[in-house]
Amino acid sequence: MQQVAIVTGGSRGIGRGIALALGELRCNVVVNYASNAAAAHEVVAAIEKAGGKGLAIKADISTTEDRKRLVDETLANFGRIDLLVNNAGVAPNVRADILDAGEESFDRLININLKGPYFLTQRVAKEMVKAKGSGAKNLGPDYRPAIITISSISAYTASVNRGDYCIAKSGLGMMTQLYAARLAEYGINVYEIRPGIIETDMTGPVKAKYDKLIAEGLTPIQRWGQPEDIAKAVVAIARGLLPFSTGEVLNVDGGFHMRRL
Ligand code: NAP
Repeated sequence: MQQVAIVTGGSRGIGRGIALALGELRCNVVVNYASNAAAAHEVVAAIEKAGGKGLAIKADISTTEDRKRLVDETLANFGRIDLLVNNAGVAPNVRADILDAGEESFDRLININLKGPYFLTQRVAKEMVKAKGSGAKNLGPDYRPAIITISSISAYTASVNRGDYCIAKSGLGMMTQLYAARLAEYGINVYEIRPGIIETDMTGPVKAKYDKLIAEGLTPIQRWGQPEDIAKAVVAIARGLLPFSTGEVLNVDGGFHMRRL
């Protein structure tokens, strides 16, 4: 039976890479986006070309109504959810020193980057538990749902000019542990992927800064990460290759997380 995946923020960057890779696995992929319909439809077309099935759903993950509609429309179209990839996220509009940064930026970042995934995971997890309970009769004995959250090296790296972003990403680490602990009894594994510096629209404005840092040896693997690097980790989980791991962090960062002397 075909697996069904929701990828939030699947229209661009890392989410796009993940959605395309899941399409190549012949999954049915929901490509969620906030406003960029053209980009989302391009991803859906590429998934279908690769032999999968795609569905673009516009939904702002920071709102209750949109999260509900995202899940309802997924179930109406595909009947099941095997994989949730919490990927959508934003950078602060302005990088501001923590001594000056305002509440508006904080609320926006927390709502999209932390509250959104937290409550979307709750909603999807309930559907997965329900599906498990219904005796996997119609889903097959290999119904092995999983949840992945894309956090960041900012979960543990202090950037004093984007504290709100770091706090949100750090919170996703605890969120992963909470859901992993709660859902293990239902056979639902929960993972956190921490990307390093990845070449996307988000990092476009700071490209020169990171080019220099990477050239100077910031990361042991001396190159920018690509969306495909993150997608490969997601594919390993989607294929069930980490069955005895939950609450697990996968660092996909060129070795950035290591302390070196
Ligand atoms: P990106 O290129 O800016 O793409 C962001 C995606 O999220 C877009 O598809 C966008 O949709 C969607 N999105 C934004 N706000 C949304 C909302 N409220 N509801 C639903 N979708 C929303 O970003 P990226 O670099 O691929 O980053 C993806 C994730 O990886 C983020 O969580 C980011 O924090 C994390 N990350 C990125 C890096 C990096 O170096 N790039 C490193 C570590 C972690 P539209 O196309 O409609 O705007």
